Amino acid sequence: MQQLFLTDSHCHIHDPEFFPDGAEDIYLRSLDEGVYRMICVGTDVRSSQLAVEFAEAHDNVWAIVGIHPHDASVGLEAVEQLRPLLSSPKVVGIGEVGLDYHYNHSSKRDQAIILHAQLTLAVEASLPVCFHIRSGFDDFWPIFNQYKLRGGVLHSFTDSLSNMEQGLSDGLMVGINGIVTFANDIASIVQHAPLNRILLETDAPYLTPSPNRGKINESRYIRQIAEFVAQQRDISLKEVSKVTEANCDQLYFSKK
Ligand SMILES: [Zn+2]
Repeated sequence: MQQLFLTDSHCHIHDPEFFPDGAEDIYLRSLDEGVYRMICVGTDVRSSQLAVEFAEAHDNVWAIVGIHPHDASVGLEAVEQLRPLLSSPKVVGIGEVGLDYHYNHSSKRDQAIILHAQLTLAVEASLPVCFHIRSGFDDFWPIFNQYKLRGGVLHSFTDSLSNMEQGLSDGLMVGINGIVTFANDIASIVQHAPLNRILLETDAPYLTPSPNRGKINESRYIRQIAEFVAQQRDISLKEVSKVTEANCDQLYFSKK
């Protein structure tokens, strides 16, 4: 197999809720297959703390900390509890934050309040933001436009091309994961997203790409997503690796 360098820019392999036996094997297998960076994303205070701990214990892992819109009802103290984590050199962003009106696990009002607080934190800390927006773009843009962020990504983007265009014009990246490999209506995103704005992510343990559907997702399957992009765009896998790594460097690993 051709050796490639890829980053899994969004996963939850650090979370014992999904990986009760730990993620050591997943980490080592991913390294073996050329995934030399994995970015673990928090969804609440506890999982953010665990993401930072996992990153600090593993050379090739970094962390993003934040409160998911599902958990927005926890209140603003939770955002304050994220603050001490930002001093870790392994923290590269705030996320995943946003609006989820598909499930509405928290009220729209609570989601907006906690999103505002976390965007304020991102501006203060000069960190990029990983956004989770589902069925909430109409309310999202007016909030987003109030902040001068250092950049961000629309993680697991599955919305309309017009919302993608809006994000691109605001300087955001587009997060592409395994969904594109099995949901035909979403595959067109891969055709339309400019290569210099695509970030590859697994969102493990969710959204396992074809042909591994049915298995639990892990970071090494990022290769299948890269292969799908290469096929759709009619470019080499090496080219996909080159551009997406550059995009990831620019968003998460450039000097503040
Ligand atoms: Zn996620």
